[in-house]
Amino acid sequence: MALIRLEHVSKRYGDRIALTDVSLSLDAGEWVFLVGPSGAGKTTLLRLVAFAERPTSGRVEAEPGLRRTIGSLGQEFRLLSDRSVYDNIALACQIAGIWGRDQIGDRVRPLLDEMGLRALEGLFPGDLSAGEKQRVALARALVRHPRILIADEPTGNLDPAAAAQIFSMMRQFRDRDTLVITATHVEEWTQRHPGRVIRLEQGYVRSDAPAPRVETGSLAQAREAGGA
Ligand code: ADP
Repeated sequence: MALIRLEHVSKRYGDRIALTDVSLSLDAGEWVFLVGPSGAGKTTLLRLVAFAERPTSGRVEAEPGLRRTIGSLGQEFRLLSDRSVYDNIALACQIAGIWGRDQIGDRVRPLLDEMGLRALEGLFPGDLSAGEKQRVALARALVRHPRILIADEPTGNLDPAAAAQIFSMMRQFRDRDTLVITATHVEEWTQRHPGRVIRLEQGYVRSDAPAPRVETGSLAQAREAGGA
């Protein structure tokens, strides 16, 4: 079963039409790009997927319990400036109902290690570069082990090296069965990290191209088939 399904979803804000008759389903472990020009409806679609918004018509259906396990990442980092890196991430655990100091440590520390943030754990957001801040924001989104990670222009404020790092890290979590859905107008990312590409234009889905299949072993098979 799909993690989340949109059926004939339309969204209007007053007399502005943000989305028209969108039907799609999103599965666990998918790596999805939402592309299209500014105003195409990308943010609106992400907000519907995150249940931050309700459709004007149509239905958004999700697996039970999914709403509580959504992580999100935006262009702004939205870290608490008066808390350390560690505490910013720990707070997300507490919001998710994880309170024990050891339990929190068991979740936060491996993530800090994995994301190269361990040395920064005692610093405050004001001491960090933009790329480091976004890595903390990503750790904060992932510490609850979300089944969906929603990223709206997550590299909009980053230089190319930091942006590449964020994409590689998001990609790692996709490999753990998290559905990752990213809105971006930078088409370079869809080429560097190939996935399903949903193209929006003026509120319509113009195309929905499945991820290219890259079979492991296919090269070897191709070589064998070629008799080399
Ligand atoms: P994108 O993320 O692709 O730039 P959006 O989803 O932000 O597109 O916007 C799609 C359309 O909906 C735009 O015309 C925008 O002006 C309109 N829109 C989005 N949010 C609101 C809102 N809260 N109030 C009024 N209009 C909105």
